[in-house]
Amino acid sequence: MENVHHFHEFDAIVVGGGGAGLMAALYASRSVRTAVISKLYPTRSHTGTAQGGIGAALGNLEADKPEWHAFDTIKGGDYLSDQNAADVLAKEAVEAVVELEWMGLPFDRNADGTIAQRRFGGHTNNETKKPVRRACHSADRTGHMILQTLYQNCIKEGVKFFDEFQVIDLVFNGDKPCGVEAVSLDTGQVHVFHAKAITFASGGWGRVWSVTSNAHSLTGDGPAIVWRHGLPLQDMEFFQFHPTGLYPLGVLITEGVRGEGGVLINDRGERFMERYAPTIKDLASRDVVSRAIYLEVQEKRGVNGREYVHLDVRPSTVNRYLAEAGEDRRIDEQYILEKLPDILDFCHTYAGVDPVKEAIPVAPTAHYAMGGIPTNVNAEVLRDGKGTTVPGLYAAGEVACVSVHGANRLGTNSLTDLIVFGRKAGIQMAEYCQQADFIPLPHDPGRSAVVALEQLRKSSGKTKPHTIRRRMQQEMMAKVGVFREEKMMQEALDLVRELKEQFQNDLAIDDQGYRFNTDLMEAWELGCLLDVAEVTAASALHRKESRGAHSRDDHPDRDDEKYLAHTVAYPRNGTVEIKYDRPVDLSLGYEPKERVY
Ligand SMILES: Cc1cc2nc3c(=O)[nH]c(=O)nc-3n(C[C@H](O)[C@H](O)[C@H](O)COP(=O)(O)OP(=O)(O)OC[C@H]3O[C@@H](n4cnc5c(N)ncnc54)[C@H](O)[C@@H]3O)c2cc1C
Repeated sequence: MENVHHFHEFDAIVVGGGGAGLMAALYASRSVRTAVISKLYPTRSHTGTAQGGIGAALGNLEADKPEWHAFDTIKGGDYLSDQNAADVLAKEAVEAVVELEWMGLPFDRNADGTIAQRRFGGHTNNETKKPVRRACHSADRTGHMILQTLYQNCIKEGVKFFDEFQVIDLVFNGDKPCGVEAVSLDTGQVHVFHAKAITFASGGWGRVWSVTSNAHSLTGDGPAIVWRHGLPLQDMEFFQFHPTGLYPLGVLITEGVRGEGGVLINDRGERFMERYAPTIKDLASRDVVSRAIYLEVQEKRGVNGREYVHLDVRPSTVNRYLAEAGEDRRIDEQYILEKLPDILDFCHTYAGVDPVKEAIPVAPTAHYAMGGIPTNVNAEVLRDGKGTTVPGLYAAGEVACVSVHGANRLGTNSLTDLIVFGRKAGIQMAEYCQQADFIPLPHDPGRSAVVALEQLRKSSGKTKPHTIRRRMQQEMMAKVGVFREEKMMQEALDLVRELKEQFQNDLAIDDQGYRFNTDLMEAWELGCLLDVAEVTAASALHRKESRGAHSRDDHPDRDDEKYLAHTVAYPRNGTVEIKYDRPVDLSLGYEPKERVY
């Protein structure tokens, strides 16, 4: 082994260069020495693929207010959202969007020069119950614009970037985090980063499932790393299936398509959402729409008897429904070309479909992690359900569970979350670094990463990583997916445990080299995916109710008496211990009610 260690020292380290990481780095760098470590070039992070928009109650086109945004978030989250967190999100969203605008983000505009807004699922006028235009957007490339804008601002502030460096472990001295270990992908060498404060902003883990909108890089490295250090993970059973993945690949077709007037149609030509959500129909929250599609398919109303339905955004169809709803607005081909250019491109490239002339085949796709590393509203990582923090450790963005999205996230609220809580992490890191000293590194830092990678490199078993990954993904899709049930989840959990053993004892690695060894890194990521899949299946099995994205055939109702609490999974003796020891914050006073859309 080229057992060479390179040492670096920064006050603040951010793991991940997506929206959350860049926002945290931007704020920290204004007062302390800050570095971002990212396995991808930052502008290739998944944030760059976010299409539809960022939610903020600007009220530019019609009445809207942060209180409604907070309530919609809580209702959308099926009352598992922490209400103090939803309050922070909704209030600070307005300022955050204005801040992005000032940083140079080119939002679409209204005729009067204000930021354009569109409809999105679950966002309503709380008085009339009608959909409200809250999603600020830049065509269907909002995330791309956010990422570029933040990256440019980070460069301006002198943030140091370590691109194509993959973080493999946290370094602890006793129970105090004091740095990270990362492998430089071009040389295979391990680098140690000594730091006072560390923020995890490493994104989601859609790659646990076989059909997903998520990039290949979303493998749950962050949660796996903290889990292996004995820290808990929260609400892991709540993983969102977005209703409109392009069939069969799962590439995301933004909810913005429905926001612009697109409708879901089954094999009989029915707009079936009228039956499932009579008031806001196709713009009901995602869990509701995904289940509706699933049920239509089960009841043999999938298009051509297959496992998909149609998303129809052809101007003739949209205009017919707009007229029926008594709206004045009409759209034409040009409008679709302007508002949804990338979607037209994806449909053409991946399905050979032209949405202006044909309906788009869609089915649910694994999309977003509501759960993750537990934090409080200041992005501080928690070590238990009582709220004890881990000094110097923060998490923000999709990897974190604040928990603002509860059991189901509303569209556009993730981008808002990145900006609002990414900023909190940055501010907190800066404050912490200014008053804290460096904790000395332990003896031989970097060793754990070297050992972990060497063990993998020397694997001499028979099973290729992709074989294990495929089996895990298919099992999780079939059994811990849109609908769940005891026996199936138990089978999935058993299989994941079996696959973990196979991973440890019978792995075959083709490439033993050091430079850009993607074979090795994919194997390491598979280890993370397996850990995350195990915690997800165990958390799902344990929660015997249906709430938001966690929907059980055997327990179809929500049970607030027993389960109005966050699931906190703790690593104990190589297995998963589940507790419901973190109560849901109800400080805005919204009592759980049945969700009707
Ligand atoms: C196709 C798609 C469309 C979406 N559209 C919207 C939308 O319109 N509105 C909305 O609100 N939300 C949307 N979402 C959700 C939202 O985009 C994501 O939740 C959000 O961008 C996540 O941002 P992040 O900063 O947490 O992580 P990411 O942007 O995923 O970035 C993760 C970063 O972590 C780094 N990283 C990971 N592991 C390691 C490691 N081990 N070492 C070093 N670096 C590491 C990566 O290099 C990357 O830089 C969409 C998601 C998808 C997939």
